[in-house]
Amino acid sequence: MIKEIQAKTLLARVKGSDDCFGLYYNLNLYRGCQHQCIYCDSRSECYQIEDFDHDVLIKVNAIELLRRELAGKRVIGTIGTGSMNDPYMPLEAEVRLTRRALEAIAAFGFPVHIITKSDLVLRDIDLLEEIGRKTYAAVTFTVTTADDPLSKRLEPGAPVSSRRLAALQTLSQHGILTGVTLMPVLPFIEDTEDNIHAIVSLAHTAGAKYILPAFGMTLRDRQRLYYYKKLDVLFPGLRPRYEQAFGERYSAPARNARRLGQIYYESCTNFGIATKMPVFTPKRNFHEEKNQLPLF
Ligand code: SF4
Repeated sequence: MIKEIQAKTLLARVKGSDDCFGLYYNLNLYRGCQHQCIYCDSRSECYQIEDFDHDVLIKVNAIELLRRELAGKRVIGTIGTGSMNDPYMPLEAEVRLTRRALEAIAAFGFPVHIITKSDLVLRDIDLLEEIGRKTYAAVTFTVTTADDPLSKRLEPGAPVSSRRLAALQTLSQHGILTGVTLMPVLPFIEDTEDNIHAIVSLAHTAGAKYILPAFGMTLRDRQRLYYYKKLDVLFPGLRPRYEQAFGERYSAPARNARRLGQIYYESCTNFGIATKMPVFTPKRNFHEEKNQLPLF
C-alpha cells in the first residue's frame, strides 16, 4: 500500500568518513521499496520499517524540508541516496520526489551520489549534468548478476541487469560519472567466476569508471527470515545449505570470496576500471556563513 507521511528531518550526517561511497549526508525520500529484492537488508529490525514488504511511505513534505535543511548546512558534502530504498522505484515516475530533490540540490550547489537499480534515472540527466558541472554527480548501478532472468527472480520489482547497464552507458555517454556496486554476491547463487567476469566486462563496455564489490551478503533477523522464505520458493533445497554454512551468523561470505576478489581485481585492472570511486572532498559552505553574519 502507498501511504503519505510527514518527515521531521531529512538529511542525516553520515558517521565518520565514508571512503567507499564518499557520502557526507544521507537522504531518504521514501520508506520501503517497490523493488522487493529478496536479499534486501532494509527489512532488518534495526531500521524499524515495520511493513517493508507491503507499504511504501512517501515523505510528502520532503522537498520543503530539504530546501530548509540545505540552506542551513555549514558543509557542502555529497548527498547520497539509494541505500535504504531505491530513489527511482516505479512510483517515482509519478511522484517525482527524487527529481524535485535534485532540483533543490542543484540550486543549493551540493554534490550528489545516487545508487539505483532503475533506468528511470535517465529522466533526470539534465539535472545530473547541471550538478556535475557545478560540483559532482555520480550514479552507481547495482548489478549482482549478469543473467537477466536471474536478476528478475532476485530483484523482482527492478529493471533487469541489462537495462541498468544500458542506462549506465547512456549516462556515461553524457559525461556523468558512473559505476557499479557489485553487491551483494549471493552464496551458492551468484558466486561464480563466470558471473564476476561477465559483470566486470559488461560494466566496462557500458563505460563504468569504477566497480565496488562485496563478495557475500548479510543475514540479519527479518532479512534472513524473508530471504529463506524466498529461497524455499525460488531455489528449493538451498536453504539447508545456507543454514549449515552460516547458522545464525550475520555475515555470509561467498564460497570462494578470495578467488572472486582476485578475478574482480585482475579484470578491473585489465579494463582500466577503478576499484575505488572518485569522491568529492567536503568544503565549507561560505554561502551559509554569509547568511549567518547578521546574527552576530
Ligand atoms: S533496490 Fe535496494 S532498497 Fe530496494 S529492495 Fe532492492 S536492495 Fe532493498
